[in-house]
Amino acid sequence: MSRIRLLPEILASQVAAGEVVERPASVVKELVENSIDAGARRIEVVVQRGGISLIRVVDDGCGMERDDALLSLERHATSKIRTSADLAAIATLGFRGEALPSIASVSRFRLTTREADAMAGTEIIVAGGRIETVRDGGEAPGTQVEVRSIFYNLPARRKFLRSENTESRNIEHQLHLQAIGHPEIAFVFLRDDRIVFQLPAAATLRERIRDLHGRELVERLLAVEEASSHGKMRIRGLIGQAGMSRPSRVQQLVFVNGRAIESPVLTAALREGYHTALMKGQFPVTFLFLDLDPAAVDVNVHPAKREVRFRDPAAVREAVVETIRRTLESGRRDWQQQFQKPSAPESTPADLALPATGPVPSAPDAGQNSLPERRDDLADRPYLVPRPQFEPALRPSDVGGEVRGLAPNQDGLGVAIAGQQFQIIGILNKLYVLMENQNGLVLVDQHAAHERILFEELRRRMEEQGVPSQRLLLAQTFELAPRDAEWVERNVATLQKMGIGIEAFGENAFKIDSLPTFLDVSDPVAFMRKVIDGLKSASNGSSPLRLGEEMIAKTVCRHAVKANDPLGYLEVEKLISDLLECELPYCCPHGRPTMIQISLSELEKKFGRKV
Ligand code: ADP
Ligand code: MG
Repeated sequence: MSRIRLLPEILASQVAAGEVVERPASVVKELVENSIDAGARRIEVVVQRGGISLIRVVDDGCGMERDDALLSLERHATSKIRTSADLAAIATLGFRGEALPSIASVSRFRLTTREADAMAGTEIIVAGGRIETVRDGGEAPGTQVEVRSIFYNLPARRKFLRSENTESRNIEHQLHLQAIGHPEIAFVFLRDDRIVFQLPAAATLRERIRDLHGRELVERLLAVEEASSHGKMRIRGLIGQAGMSRPSRVQQLVFVNGRAIESPVLTAALREGYHTALMKGQFPVTFLFLDLDPAAVDVNVHPAKREVRFRDPAAVREAVVETIRRTLESGRRDWQQQFQKPSAPESTPADLALPATGPVPSAPDAGQNSLPERRDDLADRPYLVPRPQFEPALRPSDVGGEVRGLAPNQDGLGVAIAGQQFQIIGILNKLYVLMENQNGLVLVDQHAAHERILFEELRRRMEEQGVPSQRLLLAQTFELAPRDAEWVERNVATLQKMGIGIEAFGENAFKIDSLPTFLDVSDPVAFMRKVIDGLKSASNGSSPLRLGEEMIAKTVCRHAVKANDPLGYLEVEKLISDLLECELPYCCPHGRPTMIQISLSELEKKFGRKV
């Protein structure tokens, strides 16, 4: 007797539903995608009890005539593709023709739909995949789908549902994605009869994000700088400025051709693009859109269409990394402005140089403090050179304009540093430099600031002539495990650029005879093993330059001004001006902020002078 049998249609749909309809949020996703594909300008989503008792999606899209409405409930019935050529270049969100029959097979389902110019609409009622009623309906043009009692006929599945709250949150997240992906569509979301959000059609992505997440977040987003040549690919959107991050990926959103996706390629690219602008273990905030030729991306790889495959992942990755980098660097302007006197003229990099100034008259080591014209040597930066004894930490009397011999600004208040007006007040807890500017109080973490400066300095050197290195008294040889050895061999050139004199010395053995000058290492071999361990994991697929940056970021910290090294006035001043000249002054190489503004109005609020 034969044992193989074709599944009855309804059972086949339920099997398919196992993949498409994981939970209420996936129903919402599929239905809203259909509404978007139908050209809706407004989409309303209503859920009760986490979507478990009711999900209703109402749109004002193109609607369906009766035959199509009936057909839409058949498996593999779709209006979106016809040939396999279409499948290779999908421009719509749906394409499989599986969502409606799957959903209808595991719920009590009602579809009403009407084309704009039709005399009457159609209403279809389905229970557990069986059509019960088909009749004329008189709804407004568009489509309304109601899904009640999800999984009522699949108890095993129902048991896997989470709490109503969790399911609601999933639905809300799903709707956020869709609303961000399509700012031009108005969205309304009601949960248990309460309006969760009501988003009018927005003219721009910025507007939509503001409506959804508030002004404060939007103000910290940078518009993505478009690069001219990524072939047919276009990258646009808004991303968080350097130093802005989240402990999870919830606000790391990426859309490929309007579809929110999760992609290891893109996650890695974002991480690499942010690099030192991101704290370890944190995730960036991105609303990033990639528009590319539909033929260059395969969306038919994941049951929930959450993942895609790029035809040329390396090109995509490179374009994203490059775009993020440029955007973060562009953020420097905006960032500086918040510390700037509102009326001050725009400063160009050319006038970022310090005003000419003499040494502090009474300082014992005044010679060292005179400010250099060029910055050729690390020693030009007084705060970079460890000295046995710094000047005493700031005393109030050090702070007046006359003492420093710097030109006071028009109000006779403070000094110009890097074209910006600051008045250094003092140092708190041997760590935070306190300054005043037009907007209020500015706090600088001297350690973080120093790390950033040192990091960029060393990176510049690495790119140009290589980090200066110092010979070891005794060259040392050591052996590595074969995989580590192979890694070192591949990266010898980069290591040498970083000032590490390393070369092969027999099978799996190496000789090291010099190290970067700025390092103070007692056991070079132990140091190398640590560096290799750290870099190997970080270097997966990243460029040699990145590897160098990683190495610098990892070692710099230890050599930056210690949190409680007392700095003299000129050292502080130089520190601040060097910081402001950095490419990414806002955060240290580990992504922590370097400089914080507390505005006068914030203070006024705190003191209850203003509500
Ligand atoms: P797919 O979206 O993959 O085509 P679905 O099962 O989700 O498959 O939908 C089947 C078909 O029903 C769609 O191709 C579309 O023609 C039609 N349809 C579904 N939802 C709507 C809607 N909200 N408005 C207009 N047509 C719709
Ligand atoms: Mg669909």
